[in-house]
Amino acid sequence: RGAKAGGGGGAAAGLRWVIVGDDDGGKLFTPEQYEEYKRKMLPIRLQNRLYVSWRSPTGMDCKLVGPETQCFCTHRYKQHKTDYEEIPKDRPICVPCQVSRCPCKSYHYVPLNGTQPIRCRCKHFADQHSAAPGFSCNSCSKCSGFHSCFTCGCGQPTYAHETVVETKQERLAQGKPVGQDVPYAAMGGLTGFSSLAEGYMRLDDSRVGAPSAEFLESPSSSMDHPFLKAFQGPSSSAQASSQLTGGSSAAKQVSNLRSSEEDDMAYFEKQYQERKKAKAKLHQNTKQSQKEKTQ
Ligand SMILES: [Zn+2]
Ligand SMILES: [Zn+2]
Ligand SMILES: [Zn+2]
Ligand SMILES: [Zn+2]
Ligand SMILES: [Zn+2]
Repeated sequence: RGAKAGGGGGAAAGLRWVIVGDDDGGKLFTPEQYEEYKRKMLPIRLQNRLYVSWRSPTGMDCKLVGPETQCFCTHRYKQHKTDYEEIPKDRPICVPCQVSRCPCKSYHYVPLNGTQPIRCRCKHFADQHSAAPGFSCNSCSKCSGFHSCFTCGCGQPTYAHETVVETKQERLAQGKPVGQDVPYAAMGGLTGFSSLAEGYMRLDDSRVGAPSAEFLESPSSSMDHPFLKAFQGPSSSAQASSQLTGGSSAAKQVSNLRSSEEDDMAYFEKQYQERKKAKAKLHQNTKQSQKEKTQ
């Protein structure tokens, strides 16, 4: 077995991160643990993916939540519980934060005003409020819970929107896009290139992807998915994420993280092409030796 335990440089760590997320507790899995993890988690992930979006009363998804999208608790979506061996029967489905001591009971999107946090009607910023249910203000006593009139691009106020967590079947039943099945952690509502634009700017609503059995056999085969080529969000490398856990300094770091994400994506592409070549070669060799055997 040729794989190295540490996975080497930042790009390899980035790839691992996209698949493993926080599930290795910050320690790198050994190659055996990594394989075991993939065997167990990827089928679950492909089947039980939860789609998270921020929905306007008009029914439009104004924001599709991705791995890096911040929650009201200031942590990223990927820091929440996003993998379920069995999808909960109760609705709404709760996606609690997994950062220790964070009181967030379920992912809750809150928009930004450009790059600035929005204000509550009590005049305090979103992050001055408790992430515990009720979202009470930590800075005043007159607030009855976070409530913002900030107007979304759809024309509706923030308070009229809701964070929706739903299954693939539930989305399909409403004619909403689900994209292709991907093995990556915390993909949330991202369903392809069009997901990266705000909902009201979206042009494409027909990205229903057929589930691919090949993913189970060879997870890396999804690396050529347009999603990866299009994905331009802030970095997902393990190191960057642990720096971001603090939350408030996140915005400042986003710009320098962006380039490492592009590196990750370039890595996926390269890795995929190499694997494809290796697979083709292996296939040929196998054929060759079978031929020789039968002769
Ligand atoms: Zn949190
Ligand atoms: Zn949260
Ligand atoms: Zn308030
Ligand atoms: Zn307040
Ligand atoms: Zn909206």
